[in-house]
Amino acid sequence: MDFELSEEDRMLKDLVHKFVRDQLLPLEPAVLAREAEGKGLGIAPADHKRIDDVSRTLGLWGLDAPKDVGGMDLPTVSLVGVNEELARTVTPYTLPPDSPNLRMLMATVTARQREIYLAPYVRGESISAIGISEPGAGSDPAAMITRAERDGEDWVLNGRKIWTSRAADADFTIVMAITDREKRARGGISAFLVDKGTPGFNVLRRIPMIGGQATYEVALEDCRVEGWKLLGLEGHAFAPMQIRLGTRRVQMAAWSIGMAQRALDMMCEFAPRRVTFGQPLSERQAVQWWVADAATHIHAARLMTYDCAWKLDQGRDVRQEISMIKAYATEMAWEVVDRAMQTFGAMGMTKELPLQLMATRLRTMRIYDGPTEVHKWVVARNLLGAKR
Ligand SMILES: Cc1cc2nc3c(=O)[nH]c(=O)nc-3n(C[C@H](O)[C@H](O)[C@H](O)COP(=O)(O)OP(=O)(O)OC[C@H]3O[C@@H](n4cnc5c(N)ncnc54)[C@H](O)[C@@H]3O)c2cc1C
Repeated sequence: MDFELSEEDRMLKDLVHKFVRDQLLPLEPAVLAREAEGKGLGIAPADHKRIDDVSRTLGLWGLDAPKDVGGMDLPTVSLVGVNEELARTVTPYTLPPDSPNLRMLMATVTARQREIYLAPYVRGESISAIGISEPGAGSDPAAMITRAERDGEDWVLNGRKIWTSRAADADFTIVMAITDREKRARGGISAFLVDKGTPGFNVLRRIPMIGGQATYEVALEDCRVEGWKLLGLEGHAFAPMQIRLGTRRVQMAAWSIGMAQRALDMMCEFAPRRVTFGQPLSERQAVQWWVADAATHIHAARLMTYDCAWKLDQGRDVRQEISMIKAYATEMAWEVVDRAMQTFGAMGMTKELPLQLMATRLRTMRIYDGPTEVHKWVVARNLLGAKR
C-alpha cells in the first residue's frame, strides 16, 4: 500500500497551490468587501478574465475532460488535490469545465451532442446547470413530477424546478423529467438538454441564499425540446445523474478538506499571538484540543477521500464511500471552521475574515447534493439491510 501522491499529482497540486496563492488570494479582500456590501459572492469581470487567461496558460483547463475534445483525461485522484487547493480561498473560481456535468455528459452524449455541447463546454465557452430538485422532491429526486411527453420528433416538458444554480446564466440546463410514471427511477426518468432562451423555459425568480450565493426557480411550460437533445437513453438518466452527483460529492469532500486546512492554519498562526489572562491562547488546553482534533479529522477525511477517489478510478462501486465522505468531510470542516471562528473571538464574527464565508458555504454544502442525514441513512440502510 502506497499513500504517497504520484509525482505528477504532487506537481499538479503544487501548481494549483501557487495559482491560488498568486491569483486568487490577493482578490479575497475585494470578494469579502463586495459580499459585505450585499453585492453577492463574485469576482469583477475583468479579474475573472485575467484569472481565466492565467489558468488556461498554466494548462489547468479541462483537467478531467477527454483528450479528443482538448482535455487531459486525468483521474479523480488527481482532482482531489486540485479541489483541496482551490477551496483554501473564498474567492469563487471554478477551473473550466466544472466536473459534475462534464462527467454526466461524458457518460451520455451522442456524437452530435459531443460536438455541440461537450466540446464547447470543455473549452470553457459555455456554462451549464442541472435541474433535478423540485418543490416537492429534493432529497428524494425519484419523487419528481416534471414530465416530458413525446410530440412527433420533439419532447414537451412541463413542471417546475427549484434551487437550480446558474439557471439564469447557463447556456444549457440539463433538465431531469419523468417519461414513464410507473417506472420512475427504475427506467422512467430522462434527461434533456435545454438551451438558454428556449420558449417555455421560464426563470421565475432568483433566490438569494446565505453567503452571497443564489439559486433559481424555473417553470417549464410546454417547453419544446428537439428529439436529439434527449441526453442518454430514454428512461435511464438516473444512473448518469448519480455519476454527476458522485463527482460533486467527491469534489465537496476535497473542498471541505481545503477549507478546514485553511481554518486550522489560521488558528495555528493566531493562537500563539493572542494573549488573554497573561497567557497565549495556544497554551490553553481547549484551543490545543481544537487544533489537535482538527488536524486529526482533516487527516482522516483526506485519507478517506483519496481512498474513495482511487476506488472510483478503478471502476469499483463506491456509493457507500461517497455517502461517508460527503457527510463526514462537510460536517468535519463545519466544526473546524466554527472552532477557528471561536478562537478569533469577535474578529471571527466579522466580514473581514474569510471564515464566515467558509462557514456559510459549508452550511449550504451540508444540504445540497444530499443532506448529511440522508447520506447517513444510506450508509446505515446498507449495513442494516445487509444483516437481514
Ligand atoms: C446552495 C444550493 C444549491 C443547489 N443547487 C442545486 C442545483 O443546481 N440543482 C438542483 O437540482 N438542486 C440544487 N439544490 C437543491 C439540493 O440538492 C436540495 O436542497 C437537497 O437535495 C435537499 O432537498 P430539500 O431541500 O428538498 O430538503 P428535503 O428533502 O425536504 O429534506 C429536508 C431535511 O429533512 C431531512 N431528511 C430528508 N430525508 C431524510 C431521510 N431519508 N433520513 C433522515 N433525514 C432526512 C434532512 O435533515 C434534510 O435536510 C441546491 C441547494 C442548495 C442549498
